[in-house]
Amino acid sequence: LDIAFEAHHGAYLRIFERLGLAVMPVQASSGSMGGSASVEFMVASPAGEDDVLVCEACGYRANVERGTSRVEEIVDSGPETALERFPTPGVRSIADLTALDSEATALQQIKTMVMVLDGQVVLALLRGDHQLNFQKLQDSTGAIDLRPATAEETIDALGASPGSLGAVGVEGLRVLADLSLRGRKNMFTGANEDDWHYRGVSLDTDISVEEWVDLREVESGEACIDCGAPLEIVRCIEAGHIFKLGRKYAEAMGISVLDAEGKSQVPTMGSYGIGIGRAVAAIAENHHDDAGLIWPMSVAPFHLLVTVLDVGDDEAMRLAAQVQTEFEAAGFDVLIDDREARPGVKFADAEL
Ligand SMILES: [Zn+2]
Repeated sequence: LDIAFEAHHGAYLRIFERLGLAVMPVQASSGSMGGSASVEFMVASPAGEDDVLVCEACGYRANVERGTSRVEEIVDSGPETALERFPTPGVRSIADLTALDSEATALQQIKTMVMVLDGQVVLALLRGDHQLNFQKLQDSTGAIDLRPATAEETIDALGASPGSLGAVGVEGLRVLADLSLRGRKNMFTGANEDDWHYRGVSLDTDISVEEWVDLREVESGEACIDCGAPLEIVRCIEAGHIFKLGRKYAEAMGISVLDAEGKSQVPTMGSYGIGIGRAVAAIAENHHDDAGLIWPMSVAPFHLLVTVLDVGDDEAMRLAAQVQTEFEAAGFDVLIDDREARPGVKFADAEL
């Protein structure tokens, strides 16, 4: 599988080069396809739908759905304060709580996201200044369907509205916490009653965390996980994606084949795909001017256009046909514009 995967990786790079696309292979989330690893082939474009973390210093490239960065570890110094419930009238956001109590900086707060995974309410905990990446939550749980809880579901599950939510003492709900919260103490979080919060929260003793996972979305300027240089976020079009599926599907579907000795074997699978439509869109985004598309030769429907200005002129038509014959013999695709139209119209169309 590794050998075939690398061979496809190389072939894809050569294909995209011939298409005139500057692609970067990036570490990707395998998403619902699953498998052990996958690589996306990304073309930078503001029209894209994916964000890619790029380190110019060491070449690290990863989709934000998968990429990580170095987070400065916070050591909660000072004596451990006792868990205490305190009133926070009107506090509805991380910033509100900081305004009320200067100790409660975003770094000292636990953000509680109420999510519904395959119909089950799940709490995802992050540091106050971090954002949840939905794909990471999906990948770390294997959920098929994932969405934020509605206002009613949130009140049903925790008894309070967003702004006062927390996981202290919560029983019966699955709680996942981002790795950056591990070992933290003296933190602030909602008390599951509107206008009340806790201080002195210790992740180890006050919250039953079921799993510690990477849930955080990396932001521009954070330190590269490999070398520490600042990361850039580049918007991209995903032009191709290759997956190592291993035996996931073969085993799930009970597929087996007989080998040369007649013994039954479970096949190993890979999945390799180029998004034809997206590749064409990426080419169009990267090869055009104000007058229209400039297809690279490898994908242009025709290499040459012969514009005959007066189609009533037999000599001109004869020469055009001769040019076509000679260039086609040399391996070019030639189109003759023999429409009865004004030269201006023909030249304008030729620009396309
Ligand atoms: Zn780096």
